[in-house]
Amino acid sequence: MRQVDLGSRLAFLTAEMQTRLNARLQIKSERMMPHSLAIMLGVEQADALLLVVVLSTEGICRNRLLIYHSCEPGMPLASIPFGIGFPNLPWTCPNCEELVYNLAELRFDLETEVIEPTELIHHD
Ligand SMILES: [Zn+2]
Repeated sequence: MRQVDLGSRLAFLTAEMQTRLNARLQIKSERMMPHSLAIMLGVEQADALLLVVVLSTEGICRNRLLIYHSCEPGMPLASIPFGIGFPNLPWTCPNCEELVYNLAELRFDLETEVIEPTELIHHD
C-alpha cells in the first residue's frame, strides 16, 4: 500500500476524517464525488473540492467532469477528463440525441476515481 504524507496541505482533515477517507482510498477504482465526500467527512463543499484536487495532484485519484442533460437530470450521461475544459459544441447527448449548442443547457459535476490504492499518513 502506497503511503502519502500530505503534510499541512489538508490541515482541515482531522485524524478521524483521515481514517474515514483512507477506507475509501484503499479501494482501487473507488469513485467519489465532492458533495458525497463533503457529507462523509462533514466538511464544506469547498474543502471537499480542495481535497479532490490535491488527491489528483498526488496521483492518487483521477478526476473526470461528469456531463448532465435535462433529459435525464439525475444521471451523468457522459464524462471527459477533468482539466481539458468543457465538451466541444455542439454536443450530442448520447441519451436523447439532441444537439446542444450552449453550455448553459448542460450541468457538470466532478467525480474522482482512485487509481492507486493509498493510505494517507500524517506525521506530527
Ligand atoms: Zn439528453
